Amino acid sequence: MPLMDKAGLLENLVSMSNRYGRDPELVLAGGGNTSAKDETALYVKASGTSLATITEDGFVAMDREKLSGILNKEYPSGDKEREAAFLKDVTAAKVDPADTKRPSVEALLHNLFPYRFVLHLHPALVNGLTCGAEGEEIAKRLFADEVLWVEECRPGYTLARLCSDRLREYHQKSGKHVSILLLQNHGIFIAGDTLERIDGLLNEVMGKLKESVVRMPDLSETGFDRTAVKEAEGKLSALNGAFVLHGAYADALRFSAGHENAAPLLAPFTPDHIVYCKARPLYVDDLDDLSKAFVDFRNKNGYEPKIVIVKGLGFFALGSNEKDARTAKMLFEDAMKIAVYSESFGGPRHMAEDMINFIVNWEAESYRQSQNI
Ligand SMILES: [Zn+2]
Repeated sequence: MPLMDKAGLLENLVSMSNRYGRDPELVLAGGGNTSAKDETALYVKASGTSLATITEDGFVAMDREKLSGILNKEYPSGDKEREAAFLKDVTAAKVDPADTKRPSVEALLHNLFPYRFVLHLHPALVNGLTCGAEGEEIAKRLFADEVLWVEECRPGYTLARLCSDRLREYHQKSGKHVSILLLQNHGIFIAGDTLERIDGLLNEVMGKLKESVVRMPDLSETGFDRTAVKEAEGKLSALNGAFVLHGAYADALRFSAGHENAAPLLAPFTPDHIVYCKARPLYVDDLDDLSKAFVDFRNKNGYEPKIVIVKGLGFFALGSNEKDARTAKMLFEDAMKIAVYSESFGGPRHMAEDMINFIVNWEAESYRQSQNI
């Protein structure tokens, strides 16, 4: 690729990050990450920053050779031990060990692409495809071999390892390096040497997916039984002293019409949904049963629901404070959009049970740290 000095690289990286980060169709809060690289260093978004407002200081410089070395290392087989050792090695791959910023564990994936810029996002439209029962076949039909599909897998080391193998296989088979990677039940990576190339690829993907969608999510405001909603809010506040937000729009009403209607939302689509909305919401048919059902849910699962769906009333997002409730609401809306989009891609396909357990059991906190929301 033609040369670009460090200043030019970072200037382009900041501009790319800010532009996509401000588009609510593409990025939720602090989600997604970006990077730029030269021969020796990878500049990747640090934890705790958001693409919309990131500046040069929000990126961590990583030693590319050290990152590559991680993939050749032997790690312990236990999930917890392996991921802890992996995270330690990723942190140790910083160019400046005194730099206190935390790189995302997805830094390794960024390093795999032999292209200057990499954009990684979890847009609802794209995840309608990656969480669609026929997602892989439809991706092949729409994008042929321009896209590499990688099946659902544990985040962290396992994902980096799998993607590394798949990218190598792709290169061996086709003689070229792939620019678009779709991760099942996760999101998309787009890589290119110029911002124009990244933009062109993203537009192509979003355009083709939009053309394939038969029904769009409907977040328009709609009428609810205000008295019943107030009653539900009161009950929920009394149950855990939480901050309660109601989802008052058309799709929320449609999904809450009955247990069967709510089925696409009763299991998580992506790890983000588990981290911010818990693995499962509580669904109740009758407002009178709400308090008992809430307590039963807590006893059975060992945690309180973040999302409660009440038949005919839409859903309620709970949080220990307003920000927490807003984040849960935003992520549940994302799940709702994915559920609607997935109808155009073979119907919803949730995360596999062992993936859900993996995130629930111990990965939630490290995943949260790696995702930066
Ligand atoms: Zn991701």
